[in-house]
Amino acid sequence: MSEARSDSANLLALGRDYYLPVYRPRELILERGQGARLWDSQGRDYVDFSAGIAVCSLGHCDPDLVATLTAQANMLWHTSNVFYSEPPLRLAQELVTASRFAERAFLCNSGAEANEAAIKLVRKWAAAQGRAPDRRVIVTFRGSFHGRTLATVTATAQPKYQEGYEPLPGGFRYVDFNDLDALAVAMATGDVAAVMLEPVQGEGGVMPAAPGFLAGVRALCDTHDALLVLDEIQCGMGRSGTLFAHWQDDVTPDIVTLAKALGGGFPIGAMLAGPKVGQVMQFGAHGTTFGGNPLAAAVARVALRKLASDDIAANVATQSQALRDGVAKIDASVGLFDQVRGRGLILGAVLKPVFAGRAGEILDHAAVNGLLLLQAGPDVLRLVPPLNISDEEVADGLARLRLALESFARAA
Ligand SMILES: *Cc1c(COP(=O)(O)O)cnc(C)c1O
Repeated sequence: MSEARSDSANLLALGRDYYLPVYRPRELILERGQGARLWDSQGRDYVDFSAGIAVCSLGHCDPDLVATLTAQANMLWHTSNVFYSEPPLRLAQELVTASRFAERAFLCNSGAEANEAAIKLVRKWAAAQGRAPDRRVIVTFRGSFHGRTLATVTATAQPKYQEGYEPLPGGFRYVDFNDLDALAVAMATGDVAAVMLEPVQGEGGVMPAAPGFLAGVRALCDTHDALLVLDEIQCGMGRSGTLFAHWQDDVTPDIVTLAKALGGGFPIGAMLAGPKVGQVMQFGAHGTTFGGNPLAAAVARVALRKLASDDIAANVATQSQALRDGVAKIDASVGLFDQVRGRGLILGAVLKPVFAGRAGEILDHAAVNGLLLLQAGPDVLRLVPPLNISDEEVADGLARLRLALESFARAA
C-alpha cells in the first residue's frame, strides 16, 4: 500500500471511531480546491457540483477571498461586540443597502443562528404589541429546512429532523408549501405573528415557490398583521439568479436571513430587519460572542460585492441552462428523471418513482466518477455548483455525471 493510501485509510478510521456518527460522508478525503475543482488525498480530481452545500459560491480559493482573509488575519481576528471594528460596520451597511428593504442587520455565525434570531425577533415584536404568548404563532411549510437548533428544527416542518427531540418548543404551525388556501385557513384564527419560508426550498427537494405564491403570502400577512420572514440562507446570495431570491417574486419581506454563501466558505450568518422590526430588540435583547467578527466580516464584504455583480448573474443564467440541457440530454438515454426544477444554480433532478429513495446511491457513483453531487431528500439530486463555474468545468462535470448515471442505471 502506498503511503498516501494507508494514510487515507487511517484518516477514514478516525472519522468512524471519533466523530459523533451523525454524518455518512463519502469515503474520500478532500485536500485542496481551486475554482470548481477539488483534489483528494490520493491525487484524484473532482468536479464540484456541491460547493460545500451551496456555500463556496465563488469556488475554492478565490484569489480575492484568500487575499482578504490573509490580510485581515494579520490585522485583527476578534473583538467581541463589546468593541467596534471596521469590517462588520461596513458589512452591515452594505447588506442593508444591497437588500433594498432592510434598515438594520444582526451578524452571527450560521444559518440556524440567523433563523433563531428571526424567531426571537418575531416574538419580541408580537410581545411589544401586547399579544399574549399563545398568539405569537409562526407558520412554516412542510418540506422546509430552517436549521438544527431546538427552535429552528421545530420551524423545520419535517418529522425526520424532529424525532426524539421532544418536547419541542410551542408556537409553530405547519402548512403545505404553495397552498395559499391552506395558509389562509391557518391564519384565520388571528393568532399568527409571522409566516416564515424559503423562496426555493433547498433541503426539502429543491422546490421553488409557485409564481404568485410569495405575493399571496405577503397579502395574507398584511391582512392579519403578521410579519413575512424569508429564509434565503441557501437560495439567496445570487444562487437563484438574483442577489436576493425574492426579487423574482416581487415582494417586500420584513425579515430576511442569510448564511451559507455569505462568507464564501468562511462561517457567517446575518439577519436583516425591515422598518417594522428594526428597533424592536434593544440593548441586551440578543447577542453573540463571535457573530460579526472582523475576520468573517472582511471576507463576507468581498463575497457580497462579487456575488452581487452582473457577471455572476449572467453566468448563473448561462450555466443554469447548460446544466438543464446537459441533464436532459443524458436522461434521454438513461431515463432516470421525471423533471429538473429550481431556479438559477439551485437545481433538483427528481427521480422517477421506480428509482425513489436511491439518490444516495447515485452520489456514490458520482464520487467514484470524480463528481461531487448532493441529494435533497432521498428522491432528488441537487446541483448547486459555484456560481462562477466555467463552461469547461460544467462540460467536464456533465461528462462525469453521464458516467455516474450510466453506471447507476446498469447496476439498478
Ligand atoms: C443550511 C440551511 C440552514 C441552516 O444553516 P446552518 O448554517 O447549517 O445552521 C437554514 N435554512 C436553510 C434554508 C438552509 O439551507
